[in-house]
Amino acid sequence: MKKLHIKTYGCQMNVYDSDRMQDLMENVGYETIDSPEGADMVIINTCHIREKASEKLFSDLGRIRPHKNKKAESGSQMIVAVAGCVAQAEGEEIFKRSKVVDIIVGPESYQTLPDLVGKMIRDKKKQINLDFIPDNKFDILPESRTGVGASAFVTVQEGCDKFCTFCVVPYTRGAEYSREVSKIVDDAKRLVDQGVVEIYFLGQNVNAYHGLDSKGAPASLAKLIEEVAKIDAVKRIRYTTSHPRDMSDDLISAHRDIEKLMPFLHLPIQSGANAVLKGMNRKHTRQDYFKIIEKLRAARSDMGLSSDFIVGFPGETDKDFEDTMDLVRQIKFTQCYSFKYSPRPGTPAADAKIQVEEKVKEERLAELQKLLTDQQIEFNQRSEGQTMPVLFERKAPSSGKSKARAATQLWGKSPYLQSVIVDVANEEEAKKYFGKIADVKILKSRPSSLVGELSLLT
Ligand code: SF4
Repeated sequence: MKKLHIKTYGCQMNVYDSDRMQDLMENVGYETIDSPEGADMVIINTCHIREKASEKLFSDLGRIRPHKNKKAESGSQMIVAVAGCVAQAEGEEIFKRSKVVDIIVGPESYQTLPDLVGKMIRDKKKQINLDFIPDNKFDILPESRTGVGASAFVTVQEGCDKFCTFCVVPYTRGAEYSREVSKIVDDAKRLVDQGVVEIYFLGQNVNAYHGLDSKGAPASLAKLIEEVAKIDAVKRIRYTTSHPRDMSDDLISAHRDIEKLMPFLHLPIQSGANAVLKGMNRKHTRQDYFKIIEKLRAARSDMGLSSDFIVGFPGETDKDFEDTMDLVRQIKFTQCYSFKYSPRPGTPAADAKIQVEEKVKEERLAELQKLLTDQQIEFNQRSEGQTMPVLFERKAPSSGKSKARAATQLWGKSPYLQSVIVDVANEEEAKKYFGKIADVKILKSRPSSLVGELSLLT
């Protein structure tokens, strides 16, 4: 077996793509290792959303160079591939800046990676493929996957037509594309045969899903959820990431009607101020967002809500920021992601004249994060004393003082995506719970996890 090392940056979509690249290369005789040392191939799967994304890539490539040289000195070869959104955005420039790189492949063409490796070895020439060919990608990817646990991601939709002014995704991932319902159902069936009980639908704009059904008509995400929920062994369904504009009434009703659909939604708003939302080209207002949340809570009163926020977007005033704080106070989120605005090259907002001062951004971010953390702590505290179904996936990670106890601690997820830790008698007992849902009484809450005791295995 040849050795493959993959380094992944960014979102769940990138993690999913890296796993699929691993599957592809395993099919042609590679096995994965944790470090680039001694590797026959290294893939860096990049994310353009990260700050200074290309600088990070070139520092990584600098660190890989000695390993590649060592490999060459021993008479063999290390192939270095750059994948992901930075590859798509920078293209041939990457070859010019780093001699280490042999292959450049985009997020919509990585299914060609084994071919590119073959050509590169045969023709002794660098290879690049940045085509947008999402429609055959999923047909080419290997059907069974390695290393799946109790929960697995299934990409149902890719790309974005929204063109928010701060975001590179529409340029690097292309237009919205949805997979057919039957293909996703087949994927889910294969995954449950491998022991998966939770299916997590992935898409850049997952609720813009419009894949064709068996009659050739476009199906909504709600319809897709309904179809996958019919598979007995699927016990939980989740989806991410959603856009408020595509939060349709049938999807909201699905949260009421489909028990397997978890009562948790990540619905990025980015800002609570209409002027900022307009500058971001979000095409929804704060009032629209309130309306969606009201409908969701009417459909399912225990919905847990999460969001993304960008503070210090160009032109954001004190009053705009206060609108964001006000929205957070009113809605009360269970967990959120928040960032300072930083320009992404090639996006319209990067050239805006009225950039907010760095110090102001930092102050606003600290204030918002304090409020969001307080809300998360409060939500976790409200879980104390409740009994909830928890999906156990693995042993709890051991750390510091709890090292001795961690051998008999299990880690699982509540319906609201909270981490839940419980004690079990021993390793043998722990294994019985992997991939199972059990009722847990929550004894104690921490800022980012819950501690409970097991009651019933359901
Ligand atoms: S909706 Fe906006 S933020 Fe989300 S991927 Fe599309 S352009 Fe980017």
